[in-house]
Amino acid sequence: MFLYRGACRMRQWSAVNTTPLPSDCSLLVIGGGPAGSAVAASAALAGMDVTVVDMQEFPRDKTCGDGLTPRAVHALTRLWGGDPGEPSPRTGSPGILSGRPEIRGLALHGFGGSVRTPWPDHPSFPPRGSAVPRTTLDAALLDFAAACGAWVVTGWKAVDVSHVGASTAGTVDSVTFRSTERDRKETCTVRCDTLVLAEGVRSGVARLLGVRWLRGLVHGVAARSYCPTPYGDEPWIHSHLELRDAEGVAQPGYGWIFPLGPEEDGEGTRGVNLGCGALSTSRRPAKVNVKKLLGEYADLVRGEWELGEPREITSALLPMGGAVTRVSGVNWAAVGDTAALVNPLNGEGIDYALESAQDLVELLPDAAASPDGLRHIWPAHLRRQYGDAFSLARRLSTLLTMPGLLSAVGPLGMRGPLSDRMMAAATRLMGNLVTPADRDLTARVWLAAGRLSVGHDRYRHPDSRPLFGV
Ligand SMILES: Cc1cc2nc3c(=O)[nH]c(=O)nc-3n(C[C@H](O)[C@H](O)[C@H](O)COP(=O)(O)OP(=O)(O)OC[C@H]3O[C@@H](n4cnc5c(N)ncnc54)[C@H](O)[C@@H]3O)c2cc1C
Repeated sequence: MFLYRGACRMRQWSAVNTTPLPSDCSLLVIGGGPAGSAVAASAALAGMDVTVVDMQEFPRDKTCGDGLTPRAVHALTRLWGGDPGEPSPRTGSPGILSGRPEIRGLALHGFGGSVRTPWPDHPSFPPRGSAVPRTTLDAALLDFAAACGAWVVTGWKAVDVSHVGASTAGTVDSVTFRSTERDRKETCTVRCDTLVLAEGVRSGVARLLGVRWLRGLVHGVAARSYCPTPYGDEPWIHSHLELRDAEGVAQPGYGWIFPLGPEEDGEGTRGVNLGCGALSTSRRPAKVNVKKLLGEYADLVRGEWELGEPREITSALLPMGGAVTRVSGVNWAAVGDTAALVNPLNGEGIDYALESAQDLVELLPDAAASPDGLRHIWPAHLRRQYGDAFSLARRLSTLLTMPGLLSAVGPLGMRGPLSDRMMAAATRLMGNLVTPADRDLTARVWLAAGRLSVGHDRYRHPDSRPLFGV
């Protein structure tokens, strides 16, 4: 394990029976992915005493498409305090997007057509995306948190939580960690004033606090790989909406190719992140082996991209659209994947992880002044920020799980006379590149449809709030 803090960063391999975990801290963050690192960095910048703990050693891999849309670049810019391609004005940390591809937009393929749509010209979101392997991105974000003054500890897994009184929605008192070092059985308890759960999808402590993922609702199952190709510096991310196997039989799901820029590791092994995914609900489970589908997809595009063999193939589930039973108690809150903050229409979660983390830290003073703390403030904030968009996106992606629907409407969008305009709108809406301040027709229709969708949710579930718990 190592620990480090602040400008005088110290990486220290611990001796047995010593613990780098503090016994006490003001803000404790479980998980050092984008959500946890961004909470830790923002809180440290706000002058808080913050400790972030991850069970893995960094750099570590995370199954992901590695794609950053303009929304993610915007969230990174906010955290970084300036252009993420440049050293951070806050810490001097090297530009997190320096030397990374500048993605201009989305190229959509399928149903006999191909359409390239640049990112929209938007007052808030930059016309720029990127892609960075998570091994690199997450380590750089955790380093940034340390440079901001957060106490960073790796190699400890949170295994238990104690709370005051009977209600898990109340006040958390402390968290118990177990060392993940081989042959080291040590445990350690850390008391905290506030706890942030940034554990990702497999959120063990969150479950102990009553956070349940609503798996019956639409969610994703996806696989990714790294493939060598001479076209790693292609400035578009590609998405294939129609996948067929070697016999030409249509397969449920979609594929992506995210160029990672010039050779990632100097040996050309990571030209692009190539992956595929499918949407699933309890009513219409995705009956697809995504790793097998990935192989078929790679075969389909091999010639065009001069692809080598896919490597490092991994798969994972994606909780989506805020579909969890609870996101907070009096002094604890969930961010990122733990709160199912993934866009159901494109599977993006890095941006929502970064945004929710920074928003939460900004809300902490309000929570401190309220007798209920974060209990109601946090879900109310998430509903305000994402409720309409996620409700609508969930509804649309549930429709997409209906067999034959995409094949019926796909050709209209990809080959019709208005395909360029329709796909430009689709790219913007799929990326949730709309804010309440937008006044153009597409945005107005989208925002109104979002409100209707939430109204329908309330009508169908009058006793519960299906987004972000009760
Ligand atoms: C196949 C696939 C493709 C995707 N593609 C994209 C994409 O292209 N773009 C995009 O924006 N999003 C994508 N996503 C979603 C994105 O990966 C997640 O939304 C994002 O990683 C969420 O960040 P996070 O910090 O919440 O969680 P994570 O990144 O999962 O980080 C959680 C951290 O918590 C640690 N942890 C967990 N439990 C404990 C514990 N008990 N104690 C201590 N530490 C713990 C883990 O080790 C991990 O480091 C994809 C997801 C999948 C599965």
